[in-house]
Amino acid sequence: MNLFCVRGIRLAVHGTFLALLAVVAAYGWIEDGFAGLLLQTGALLTVFVCVVLHELGHCFAALHYGIGVRRILLLPVGGMAEFDSMPREPRREIIIALAGPAVNFALVALLWAVVPGEVPGDPDAITWAEAGRLLLQWNLIMGLFNLLPAFPMDGGRILRAALAMRLDYTRATFWAATTAKILCVTGLIAAAWYRPIWMALPIFIFVLGELEYRAVKRREIEEEHWRARAARFGLVDEPPLLASHESEG
Ligand SMILES: [Zn+2]
Repeated sequence: MNLFCVRGIRLAVHGTFLALLAVVAAYGWIEDGFAGLLLQTGALLTVFVCVVLHELGHCFAALHYGIGVRRILLLPVGGMAEFDSMPREPRREIIIALAGPAVNFALVALLWAVVPGEVPGDPDAITWAEAGRLLLQWNLIMGLFNLLPAFPMDGGRILRAALAMRLDYTRATFWAATTAKILCVTGLIAAAWYRPIWMALPIFIFVLGELEYRAVKRREIEEEHWRARAARFGLVDEPPLLASHESEG
């Protein structure tokens, strides 16, 4: 479902996101009636406003480099900015990847400045200051989590781009994906030891990382095929710009 456009970037929500919103609203209603419903859906929507701002950070950086942005899609697991094409220029890739977490850190700084400190009061009531502190913590976690060097997180893209300055693109993706897998296995063992419920997260990241690596390999094969055909017909050796997307955990 399309919501609205910001500088030509469409914001769309997936049906599963609306399902998550309904589940959260129902949970709030059962917990505390209408007030609970408002609190729970309000908290979820506020977090997703931060997710959209994070994605807009990537999008504006991409637009700055003349890269077309098709849309931002909201899923229950986060947001996904879809670009028309991503040039293989490590420096630009690094800046586009950094722009998302930079928005979260800017929000952390802003909240740090405006949210008042601890005030003694009713321990059960959620005050605006408490909500502000929770939002600050959430943005800090979102920014840091996205910097983990594992696909599909921004950190994985930054690592790949940094490696691509020395290695060819497929090798750089291979080593970035391998780093992500090691990190996922470590995370899986740690989760199994401390909090088995968190085991789903490294598995999810592992699968997405593998999909990313396969997509890059497939693109490499397609481009090789294009180059071979172009060479046969004596055409330019530039491969076509292939669609690429960027996603968040
Ligand atoms: Zn991001």
